[in-house]
Amino acid sequence: MKKLFLILVATVFAVGSLAQSAVKPIFYAISFPNAAHHEAEIVMTLSQTPASALVFRMSRSSAGRYATHEFGKNIYNVKATDVDGNALDLKQIEGDVYELTEHPETVKISYTLFADWTDGTYACIDPSHAHLNFPAVFIWTVGQESRPIKVEFDDLDTYGWKVATQLPHVGDNIYSAPNLQYLFDSPTELSNFKETSWPVVNTDGKTEKINLVAHSDDSQETIDNFGKMVQKVVLEEKAVYGELPSYDYGEYTFLDDVYPTNSGDGMEHRNSTCIVETDKQIAGNEIWELSTFAHEYFHSWNVKRIRPKSLEPFDFTHANMSNELWFAEGFTQYYGELALERAGFHSVDDYTHTLSGLINSILTSPGAAKFPETQASRYAVYADNGVSIDPVNTTNMYLTYYYYGGATAVALDLRLRSEFNLTLDDYMKAVWLALGKVQKPYTIPDLQKILGKLTNPKFANDFFARYIYGIEKNNYTALLDKAGLILRKRAPGKAWAGSIGYNSGRMHSGNANIGDTPGLALQMSTLAGSPIYKAGLDAGDIIMKADGKDITDAKSFNDVVASKNIGDKIVVDYKNRTGNHQTTITLEESPYVEVVTYEKAGKSLSADQQTFRANWLSSKIK
Ligand SMILES: [Zn+2]
Repeated sequence: MKKLFLILVATVFAVGSLAQSAVKPIFYAISFPNAAHHEAEIVMTLSQTPASALVFRMSRSSAGRYATHEFGKNIYNVKATDVDGNALDLKQIEGDVYELTEHPETVKISYTLFADWTDGTYACIDPSHAHLNFPAVFIWTVGQESRPIKVEFDDLDTYGWKVATQLPHVGDNIYSAPNLQYLFDSPTELSNFKETSWPVVNTDGKTEKINLVAHSDDSQETIDNFGKMVQKVVLEEKAVYGELPSYDYGEYTFLDDVYPTNSGDGMEHRNSTCIVETDKQIAGNEIWELSTFAHEYFHSWNVKRIRPKSLEPFDFTHANMSNELWFAEGFTQYYGELALERAGFHSVDDYTHTLSGLINSILTSPGAAKFPETQASRYAVYADNGVSIDPVNTTNMYLTYYYYGGATAVALDLRLRSEFNLTLDDYMKAVWLALGKVQKPYTIPDLQKILGKLTNPKFANDFFARYIYGIEKNNYTALLDKAGLILRKRAPGKAWAGSIGYNSGRMHSGNANIGDTPGLALQMSTLAGSPIYKAGLDAGDIIMKADGKDITDAKSFNDVVASKNIGDKIVVDYKNRTGNHQTTITLEESPYVEVVTYEKAGKSLSADQQTFRANWLSSKIK
């Protein structure tokens, strides 16, 4: 996930320092008198207002989250007063929009916020913490987005809370932001967290301080040790780009929240990231959690600074659509996992599982067969945790840009290595220097041009035409072979009907077969092209008999399939919303693939393959 924009921030910094005495900050005070019931009280004080009508609104999206989220639903008791507390005539003109047509120069807007969801997008308030993603928290004034802001956190002593945020501390419990974009890019954790910090000397000789803040049931020793593991990932990713970004206040903060009642998430920000895990604690889950750390930290270059023009600046009033998420998220996905491998946290065999996942997706998903990754990127406005009650056909028209772009990164890395004696690290470095470091928002033609400079324009044009704008697929078998890895069928020679599991896309809610009803209810859309799909079976259908045998669950159906051969036909009795039916499934070989090492397949690696693999997967920390 991801978020904000630099040029705007840089501009406002410059203006802010000149105009500070003239422009009064917008002031927010947030208190927690009813934390046990997940409420906060918020007062926004806005002075120096224009004479015209004022429009206030809650956001509908959050930087780094690409679908819409209706934050306006969680506020109530919305009131406007003058500085003396006299009520003003505030009108609600849309669900999340309020208007004051007549008002004095200074106006106060107050409201109650209900928040009970700990992740990177929403907010959660309880006596243990206030976990705040500000687009979900603060109302804002249309047209006043570039003004400086101060935020006061009250009731900290009541709950024994400290403040962790990338915002600068400017006195007492007050923190500042140069403008609304910056505030909304600064997640804040109020709790009795533990923390550890370490310095990293950057390539320019300046020291960047990295902080790990953990709200979890762990000892300080666990946090300290985990910090050492995170440090290895930080250095491995620094090696890709040759340097760390220069963080705004010389600091970068990992805000980690780990409780089983959380909703798992990772959300990147400019100088921090919010990582929410659903484990009982960090201890014992370090390697698993590192994968999110590695992904989100890579974003501090790719997407927070190497920034798609389509997300610049972020519009909080609707979903922000981008063609570039295959690069912003997909290439980040590739590097997050690669960093763990290079840092020694994963074995080569672990890494082949990662590769299997990526390559299976791009080679076998109907979505990738039909649509390019630019289109998959645009679908993020629905797919990225968008909430709706009717099913969507993602099984058969969509592949997540994380995997689509991740698999493309694998191919580009291996092609640069084998065709040009270059690496994807070289490319990321070139993109960083040309775009990210100088804060120049990019479009896909910019990415193509940089690849053309590094290799040659013909290669870059061909690669983008076929694999980014087009739906052709790279030859993964030949590319992986260079590293002594084999791409092969996962279940050769075995009969397959198609996926009937819970992992293939949409959940069917109108299903009759919950509880003790006999039969196997298909809860997900069946995969286009699979035998079960061709036989006409889909979500909501209930398989009663297969090959004459009663079917009671997935196992009894799979047993029937396993007893057959490729090409065999199975007669199936099923029922659905239109009655009882019979169909025939013709079994095929599963299209799924896996990646294994030469060693595992009993073949020996050549010296060239050994060198190629080591150059790709070994540590880059010098
Ligand atoms: Zn991401």
